[in-house]
Amino acid sequence: MHKQQGQKKKLLLINPINAFTRDIPFLTESLSPPLGLGIVAALTPEDWDIALIDENFDTFTYQEADLVALSALTSAVRRAYEIAGIYRAKGIPVVLGGIHASMMPEEALKYVDAVVIGEAEGVWENLLNDFETGSLRQTYSKNAGKIFHSPVPRRDLFHKGYGLANIQTTRGCPFSCDFCSVHIFNGPMYRYRPIPEVLDEFEGIDHNRVFIVDDNILGTSKNSIERARQLFKGIIERGIKKDWVCQASINFADDESLLALASESGCRTVLLGIESEKAEGLIETNKRLNLKKGTEHYAEVFSKIHKHGISVIGAMIYGLDSDSEEDLYARSEFLVQSDIDTHQANILTPLPGTPLFERLKTEGRLTATNFPDDWDRYHCFDVVYKPKKMSSEKLKSVMIDNWDMIWNRKLMYRKFLKTLKQTGNKTAANWAFFGNIERYNLALGKMREPYKSDQIFFKG
Ligand code: SF4
Repeated sequence: MHKQQGQKKKLLLINPINAFTRDIPFLTESLSPPLGLGIVAALTPEDWDIALIDENFDTFTYQEADLVALSALTSAVRRAYEIAGIYRAKGIPVVLGGIHASMMPEEALKYVDAVVIGEAEGVWENLLNDFETGSLRQTYSKNAGKIFHSPVPRRDLFHKGYGLANIQTTRGCPFSCDFCSVHIFNGPMYRYRPIPEVLDEFEGIDHNRVFIVDDNILGTSKNSIERARQLFKGIIERGIKKDWVCQASINFADDESLLALASESGCRTVLLGIESEKAEGLIETNKRLNLKKGTEHYAEVFSKIHKHGISVIGAMIYGLDSDSEEDLYARSEFLVQSDIDTHQANILTPLPGTPLFERLKTEGRLTATNFPDDWDRYHCFDVVYKPKKMSSEKLKSVMIDNWDMIWNRKLMYRKFLKTLKQTGNKTAANWAFFGNIERYNLALGKMREPYKSDQIFFKG
């Protein structure tokens, strides 16, 4: 890009999306803005112009730039590499960050010029300096400390169509579930962002719905739980009136006084990693906390959370090594009968960097290995490995039956009314309902008629 003296350089940020999800109508309430790119923009000095192409909303068209930066999950990384190729062919350097590139930097470096491994704070500034002096390195990373600071993301760059904002208050997770890469990406140590910094940002968000993206908002230690308590209290004391959704383990229901504070501070929905209603499934996935508490206590967990006006997204995994065909139907029957409000029924997906990926690779059981093209299929609604007790084809066909069981129109509306009754909170029920519609669209939207935003009866 030819520059006149004094003209600003241009940083182009791109949020690529997965090919499979491209044609599925999304509810804007269920989409999360590209927070990492917003942070990168905030870390960039003022002598740069910044633009964002967000494939959740924008059709990609080539724009001139001096430097291009993308962030991608595994399922979107092939698209990231494709776009990177367009810019590199014109001699424009491309940087890739996000969980996939952090797990597989060697692969990423075949398609991009530099990889940010882990978080951008503390490295992005160095990367820009190196770019300006023509000495861009291939990888950038830093050792993460217990406390982390993050600038307020440049939300002005995000598309106005997003139905909620997002924010991060902690990083890391003390658990080590077999299928999960976030504890490897963000580290096993539970790391905190100072509460006043979080509250300042929270207060400034001009959206009344917020997704707190922390992998596990409570953690399990006395300190981390107390820190969550102080965060909820801080939101209340500052008079911040927003509805928010978060992710946690089932110990979220342990302390009723904490639940009351979460609710008073705006918590309307929580995603809980349930994974399986069978002990064998919990052993296999290393879901230690669920195992320790016992599956017979799930109902009590959901009931306590409901009592405080909060709905429950229950994340389940289908296709574990211990799963027979009957077990998969039993899992759906559990979802139907349980007081879980939003069903998440993902097919086991070995994401790079996880123990599961390494195990299936060693056992020769990965079946979608034409990388990077096959990363397109690693989105949790496809079978990319050989299951232990059935063929890949059988698992896929059984899953379609199961998805029909848990996301049929009648059940989704019945669950909405049940959630409304059990939580007594319209937002909690609406979010649960939207969640089911979104998952239906993802799982079955290409085979059945997908729901569109304007078809949602209970929008409000
Ligand atoms: S508790 Fe959640 S975030 Fe933590 S390792 Fe398990 S699945 Fe990952």
